[in-house]
Formats: sequence, structure tokens, C-alpha cells
Amino acid sequence: MLIEGVWCDSEDGSVSEILNPATGEIIANIPRATVNDVNRCVEASKAAFKSKDWSGMDPAQRGRILQKMAAATYANAKSLAVVESTNNGKTFREALSEIRYGAWTFEYYSGLCDKIEGSTIPVPGNRLNYTLKQPLGVTAHIIPWNFPLQLALRSIAPALAAGCTVIAKPASWTPLSLIEWAKAMMEADVGLPAGVLQVITGSGGLIGDALAGHADVDGITLTGGVPTGHAVMAKASENLTPVTLELGGKGANIVFPDANLRYCAKAICFGIFMNAGQMCWAGSRLIVHEDVHDELVDSVIAEIGKWPVGPGMEDGVRMGSMVHESHRDDVLNMLAEGLKQGGKVACGGNAIDRDGAFMEATVVTDVSSENLLFQEELFGPVLSVTKFSEESEALALANDTPFGLLNGVWTTDLSRAHRFARDLECGMVSINEYPITFPQTPFTGWKHSGIGIEQSKDALNFYTKVKNVNVKL
Ligand code: NAD
Repeated sequence: MLIEGVWCDSEDGSVSEILNPATGEIIANIPRATVNDVNRCVEASKAAFKSKDWSGMDPAQRGRILQKMAAATYANAKSLAVVESTNNGKTFREALSEIRYGAWTFEYYSGLCDKIEGSTIPVPGNRLNYTLKQPLGVTAHIIPWNFPLQLALRSIAPALAAGCTVIAKPASWTPLSLIEWAKAMMEADVGLPAGVLQVITGSGGLIGDALAGHADVDGITLTGGVPTGHAVMAKASENLTPVTLELGGKGANIVFPDANLRYCAKAICFGIFMNAGQMCWAGSRLIVHEDVHDELVDSVIAEIGKWPVGPGMEDGVRMGSMVHESHRDDVLNMLAEGLKQGGKVACGGNAIDRDGAFMEATVVTDVSSENLLFQEELFGPVLSVTKFSEESEALALANDTPFGLLNGVWTTDLSRAHRFARDLECGMVSINEYPITFPQTPFTGWKHSGIGIEQSKDALNFYTKVKNVNVKL
């Protein structure tokens, strides 16, 4: 763990074994922090914040440091991608593109450090009234296992840009890429003052909970599941600590007969089989017009032939191992439960009989909106297919889940595309493409998909506090 600028073990020396899910091999032993370690980390973060070495630095200089962090991330991207693929199971190619995306996020925020501006406000009388935007303070970043490094960088970059200090806690199964990245930042000597960036590892239920409930943590960013969102928000409420929660999803691709079906089939596969479907923004539902249902399902199944499954480091593999055998088994159990409620397996549906947490790309047709396969996040490579006949029915189906992250609309009718963009109850809509996001665009969920905004200039609002100043002249 990186605490106060020094690499250290946990207070009591305890460790957790870290696995390669594609082989089941133990590849590392990682400190299992105690609550005292959390306290030490928060104290160091608070001291680093109060010293103003970072928060009071010329913001252009902070930007230069973020730029160096971006460069060091790009320079180490390949070796970090090997670590990511080996620890998470995803393909090397996926890991590499995610890590480069993380570097790009740092580049984007490096340019914003000196553009975090307040405003002057016209008020009556002989007065000057203005706002200051000041850094939030100590921020805790609780990271999931599905994009272990990219999602860490997604929130660390704006927090640092705003002048906050950062405590990052990776998921228990996948801590290695964040540790290696922090090492790379130290080795590149980017100029971060000690204590500004810390990494603490261990159990979410213990140290994630302790961070969320700590009186000296000023903001918490969690990317994780809905139950963890409830737990973190409840804990944070004890100190009225603000939270950004990026939670689950149940994205739909809504396909009309006028769509480019061949391109759409490729995007549907990308949206549900990339990262073995372990994605908040997975397009896990296909809501397709009855006139093109059979043709599109056939095209999707044909496209699955181009998704060989195997160890993420092997050439030619497009779908790697899932993160853990226990998670793969959870997905298979949910699939079996869902099938009791209806639906026909058109393709896949099973574990792959070899070492590692592998599962077949799966398509289930005739799924009703009451089925758990339509309603719940399976977090695996399972596509549920539902037919519609009228536009209004498609919209109602798409909105009929507790989630509201990303939905895709496939049509060449411009008016229909924008009607859907307006009426879908979700934070992001993609038209004729799926899934897509950029560091400069908001990543945000409605309903149970979350609270707050990641990426874009909007993310900086969370990491800054507004102060209003009135001056009688
Ligand atoms: P998770 O909720 O199990 O864990 C997320 C993080 O929270 C981990 O670091 C974990 O150790 C920690 N944690 C667990 N219990 C905690 C507690 N009581 N208090 C504080 N921290 C705790 O999620 P996961 O299984 O790692 O990831 C999958 C989930 O993340 C899915 O639901 C997925 O949709 C969601 N996700 C959302 C986004 C998004 O941007 N909306 C992106 C990726 C993943």
C-alpha cells in the first residue's frame, strides 16, 4: 500500500491472495488493511491537503504534473495491460485500450486545472459579489473489479485537478494494476507531494466502510453495485459526506427496421461480450422490432463466431475469463433462474469446460419484461432479446427497469432518434453506435444507476466547493 508516500504492509501484516482467474493460480499477496491503516491514511491525506502544497499550488503547475502522469501512464500502458489482463481475465487488447483511455482522462483534466473558475454576480447596491471554487479536500475512491485501473483513473484525475487529495481503494480481487500504476507514477517522479495520492488495499466491507464513515473524508466516489451504493451512502450520511455513486445498469439497444442491421449486430456483440459482459453499461437487453427480429438474432449469432473465448493474454481471443469462478457461477445461477421464468436459449448458456472462469456468449430470446433476465443486472455475457411492434411499446420496455445508465437507439429516422433521446429515462443515450463515451463527456446514471457525474467538466463540481463572497464597497 502507498501511505504517506511510502510503500508499506498492513498494520498487522495480514495479506490476501490474488488470483489469475484464467488459471486459478495465485499471482500475488496483497496487504489486507485494518481500520487503523485507514485512519493513518486519512490523517496523512488530511495533512497533505492542509499543507496546501497541492491545493495551493499554481494550478498551471498542477496541470503540468497531471500531464506528466498522463505521459507516464501511456509509457507504461503495455506492462500495465499485462498486469490487468492477468489479474482480471480480460483480453490484453481490452486492457490496453482502457489504460490508454485512463491516460487520456489525465490529459483532459490536466488542461482544466487552471480553468476552474468562479463567477461575479450582479447584486443590488454598492457591492461586489463573487464566488470562489475551492477544492473539496480529502477524497476516497472506491473502485470495482471490472475496469480496475481505468475506473480508478476516471475519478482520481478530476480530484487531483481540483486540488483534492486522493485515497484510492481498489476492489479486493483486482488491486494489482492500480498498485503498479502508482509505482510507475512514483518512479516517473512526476512531482506529486507525499500523501496527495495514496493506495490502500483490503476488504470493501471493512476498509471501504471505514473510509465512507470517516469524519475526515470530505467526499466519496464509489463505482460499484447498487447494494454497495446503499451501504456507502448510509455510512456517508453519518457525517453528511457527499457521494458520487456510479452503480449498475441494464442497457437496451432498441432496434428499428430502418437500422443498418449488420453494423448493429457487431455493436450489440461488442456491447455485451466485451469484458465478458461485466460492464455497468453493457447492452444486456436487445429490444427489436418484430419485422427484423429473426434477421438480427441470426446476425448476432453469426457474429458470435468471431468472439473466440480463452485466456486474455492469448492471441486471437476476444472474450477473456470472467473475474472469478464464483462470479461466473452467480451469473449461471441467475441465468437458470431467469429461464425458469421464460425465454429460449438461442446460443450458449453454459460454463466452458476448462480451467478458469470461462462462460459461453449467450443469447436468450422471447424474454418478457417481467423476467429477471430483463430486469436485473447479470454482469456476464448474457443478451436477452424482446420483440416489439409499436414505437411507444419500445420506449415503455426500455424504461421498464430500475436502472437508467446508457441506452442505444438504432434508426435512420432523425425525428424518432431524437424523440427517444429525449424520452429515455437514463443518463446517456447513443444513437447508431454502442457503447461509447469520452473523457470530455458526462458519464452519469439516473434512477438506481447512480448519483452524480463522472468525466467531463461536470465532474469537477463534485471535487470543488462553492463559496460566495459579498463585499460592501
Ligand atoms: P461492488 O459493489 O461489489 O464493489 C465495488 C467496490 O466497493 C469494491 O472496491 C469493494 O471492495 C467496495 N465495497 C464493497 N462493500 C463495501 C462497503 N460495504 N462499503 C464500502 N465499500 C465497499 O462492485 P463490483 O462487484 O466490484 O463491480 C460490479 C458493479 O459495479 C456492478 O454493479 C456494475 O454495474 C458497477 N459498475 C458501475 C459503473 C458505472 O460507472 N456506473 C462502472 C463499473 C461498474
